[in-house]
Amino acid sequence: MLIVMTSDATESYIQCVVKKIESIGLKAHPIPGANRTAIGITGNSDLIDPALFTELPGVAECVRITKPYKLVGRDLKHDKTVIRIGEAEIGGDNIAVIAGVCAIESREQAMLTAQVVAEMGCRWFRGGAFKPRTSPYAFQGMAVEGLKILSDVRDRFGLRIVTEAVDEVALDLCEEYADVIQIGTRNMQNFSLLKRAGQTRKPVLLKRGMSSTLEEFLLAAEYIMAEGNYRVILCERGVRTFGDHARFTPDLAVIPAIQQLSHLPIIFDPSHSTGNRETVIPMARAGVAAGADGLLVDIHPYPDRALCDGPQALLFDMFRCMLEEVRAIDTIVKRHRESFGAANGADRAASDRS
Ligand code: PEP
Ligand code: MN
Repeated sequence: MLIVMTSDATESYIQCVVKKIESIGLKAHPIPGANRTAIGITGNSDLIDPALFTELPGVAECVRITKPYKLVGRDLKHDKTVIRIGEAEIGGDNIAVIAGVCAIESREQAMLTAQVVAEMGCRWFRGGAFKPRTSPYAFQGMAVEGLKILSDVRDRFGLRIVTEAVDEVALDLCEEYADVIQIGTRNMQNFSLLKRAGQTRKPVLLKRGMSSTLEEFLLAAEYIMAEGNYRVILCERGVRTFGDHARFTPDLAVIPAIQQLSHLPIIFDPSHSTGNRETVIPMARAGVAAGADGLLVDIHPYPDRALCDGPQALLFDMFRCMLEEVRAIDTIVKRHRESFGAANGADRAASDRS
């Protein structure tokens, strides 16, 4: 159930509802919206009696949520969630580009790449210090040494750092050094890792499991939010199909589908979903045209010598070209949305429920 407060409900009214929820052994999730706060309730196995709350001051209505996920859905929060760290935003007015290397391989490689990312006006830098590799003999990442390099990238270029935690031990370390913690496709249903990610107060970038449904994806995000971390960014990174012309199949239709159901930002990774640099730019364009809030892109100063995912890494010039193109497409998508208001796609579906 969710409790919608009146638009003039004071903080003490909200706290009164939170205490009531906690007094019956449940967890309260107050989520402020543009006009009013909604309070999600989790932890119940039976239906909750709305009469417990309807008489409390500031309560507008009690709404039963029928979907399996409660906190990620538009029922709880109609307006889009924007993830902000300083001036960097994901889900805001401009497309967010998280660019960098697949794996941190050396200080030189990271710094050369970060310089281009910063020069091009991007605010986010990606780089793996812990790599989930199919083969146990492949390069596994520089671990803490890599995290230290990432931290130096932030100090030198002011970029916000996104890096993957492959397990709980890595998560403790990433929490210390990074700004956003990535959970990779292979861990999307690692429930203990998701719960641990829910306990950090750093935003979490959750990549879609390579064979997961939309509902499984949203429920994985729900695991993080149910622990009280509401700053989740979703990322489509391609799924397994019978197509063998690309590493995975980018499922771009999931972008508007998620935007109808969830307030969370959804970005797209054209690098891991295609595995091939020649296909990355066309798919990046398509992802932005489909309405993605951002892109996660691998680039590399010398991809032929990369220790991880070299074939999909864009050369710096290709990256510059991609940025120009996707920014132009984003402007058209946003301009169109403004002129047609709620009359198109995901925005219409969401506003039908407001
Ligand atoms: C990555 O982003 O470096 C990565 C390993 O991605 P995925 O989990 O989507 O394969
Ligand atoms: Mn990679």
